Order: sequence, then C-alpha cells, then structure tokens
Amino acid sequence: MELTGMEGEGRILDGKATAALVRSEVAGEVERLVERGVRPGLAVVLVGDDPASEVYVRNKDRAATEAGIAVRTLRPEATVSQADLEALVSALGVDESVHGILVQLPLPAHLDAAGVVEAIDPGKDVDGLHPLNVAALAMDRPGLVPCTPAGCIELCDRHGIALEGRHAVVVGRSQLVGKPVAQLLLARHATVTICHSRTHDLGAVVSAGDVVVAAVGRAGLIRGEWIKPGATVLDVGINRGSDGKLRGDVELEAARARAGAITPVPGGVGPMTVAMLLKNTCRAAAAASEPVSSSGRTAGAGT
Ligand code: NDP
Repeated sequence: MELTGMEGEGRILDGKATAALVRSEVAGEVERLVERGVRPGLAVVLVGDDPASEVYVRNKDRAATEAGIAVRTLRPEATVSQADLEALVSALGVDESVHGILVQLPLPAHLDAAGVVEAIDPGKDVDGLHPLNVAALAMDRPGLVPCTPAGCIELCDRHGIALEGRHAVVVGRSQLVGKPVAQLLLARHATVTICHSRTHDLGAVVSAGDVVVAAVGRAGLIRGEWIKPGATVLDVGINRGSDGKLRGDVELEAARARAGAITPVPGGVGPMTVAMLLKNTCRAAAAASEPVSSSGRTAGAGT
C-alpha cells in the first residue's frame, strides 16, 4: 500500500489505497450490523445543481453503496425556503432508517447554512458540523468528527507517523478543516500552531513544523523550500488550474524533496474524506442500535 520514494524524496502517503482499506473495513462492519438487523442508512441532501457538488455527492453515493450503506439522495429545488429545508432535515432526524445526514455545502446564497446544520440531529451529523459535535471535539468528549480532519489523522496513524510531542503547523482556520484538525492534533498531544491569512512570515512558521497541514485553497502557497527536512506534509487543498488539473496548496515535488512523507493531490486526503464519512455513518448506526452506549458515535482519533 505504501509507496516508498527514491532516495532524497519523501514517501507518498497513498490516500487512495488507505481509503480503500478503510472502506473495506467499513463494509465488514456494515455486514455485522446487517446481521443484527440494522442496515446503516445515509441521507444526502443536495440543494440545486452546482456541478462540483454533483460530483462530490456522486462519489459519496457510490462509495457508500459499495460498502453496503443504504443511500438516499434528496434534491430540493435551488429555490427551496430556509423553513422547508430545515423541516426536511428535521424529518430525517426522526426517520429510523437514516443514521447519517449530510447536507452538501455550499448552499445557494439565500440559505443560511448554519441554521440548516443546526436542524440536523447531532447523533446523525456525519459531517461533524453541528454545534454540539463542535463543542464535543473542543471538550474532548465523544461526538462525530468532521471527515477531512479525521482522515488526516487516520492517514498518519496508518502510516506509523507519530504526532505526540511533535510541532504541527496547520495553515487555515476554517470550521470545516483548519480548526478541527488542529483540535485533533492537540488531542493527540502535538504542539499546534494555527496560521491564517493574517499570519506574518508564513514561511518561517511553516518551516518549524514537524507536521504541516495545508488547508487554504491556494495552489502552491506552501513552498517546497519551507518544509523542514523529514517533516510530514498533509495537503488538504483542492485547486483546479486553468489546465483543468487538480493541485494542492503545497508545491508537491519541491516539498517532497525535503519531506519525510507527503500526501499527493489528487489521491491523498480527498479519498480519506469519503472513507471517514462512511465510517462515521457506520458508527452512528451502531450507536443508534445500542442506545445505552453513546461513546460509539466517535470518529477520528484522540476521542
Ligand atoms: P476556507 O476558505 O474556509 O478557509 C481557508 C483558510 O485559509 C482560512 O482560514 C484563511 O484565513 C486561510 N488563508 C487564506 N489565504 C491565506 C494565506 N495567504 N496564508 C495563510 N492562510 C490563508 O477553506 P476550507 O478550509 O473549507 O478548505 C481549504 C481547502 O481545502 C480548499 O482548497 C478546499 O477545496 C479543500 N478541501 C478539501 C477537502 C478534501 O476532502 N480534501 C475537504 C474540504 C476542503 P482567514 O481565516 O484569515 O481568512
């Protein structure tokens, strides 16, 4: 599964292969749940017809179906009202065949995403964005953890990359990626620095990182020469160039020449995100079938 680079090059952390492994484990867990009479169910809410969202939803649908999860995609019109969308999401919360609810973001501009997310039953919030799950993560309590950050930690764990005591530099402070990945790293006893658009001398901060997580959305922002020799680089960024190719936030080849290990784009963190969504759905289903134990709702590391 692991690809080892040539001498002087960091090894590639193959997210595609690792995600395939996670997905096959999830499929096994789904089988066990089905034997107990529970078929994990995932409801995906896709508002409107944004082409990028269509692709993401199709990928999630295919992966979940392959793992044996029952997927239902609901497609409200792009003109749906806030109240109707929240009512739809709330109804899924009381539907016993649905264990995971995912509202594909971004929503059309007239809708308030925060309000819609708050309408999701926290126990079914497989994107980990509901305020109760955000609070649980901040307080080191069990909860559902956002998929991309959980995928970053899973990649490190499965490649034997130690986090404890290491200096992790996270570039980006979004609710979706930057903040939760920083919290997960902290929960794993890394020393964490969070950078953002107002950070002075980004290169100097990044070059102190034993682990660098790039979650910005600007191709090549993280220069190869900034990478500390031997560091682990997790590139979350997805940027489509004018040539149609996907690139990360990190200068891949130049960074790889210095890094100990690095995720490529595509094929790194992205596939892990989908795999962790399936894992979260399975855990939510397992927790729902065993109401006495709420701890099984936790995904990701350190919780
Ligand atoms: P956001 O736009 O919400 O956040 C970007 C962050 O980057 C902000 O905190 C911003 O700072 C910071 N930033 C912007 N410019 C700079 C700069 N010059 N120097 C340092 N920091 C800067 O993005 P997301 O977190 O949602 O996503 C980040 C990237 O990850 C995107 O490319 C997205 O497509 C990708 N992504 C990939 C996923 C995957 O599965 N692989 C899943 C989710 C996202 P400030 O807060 O100050 O504005």
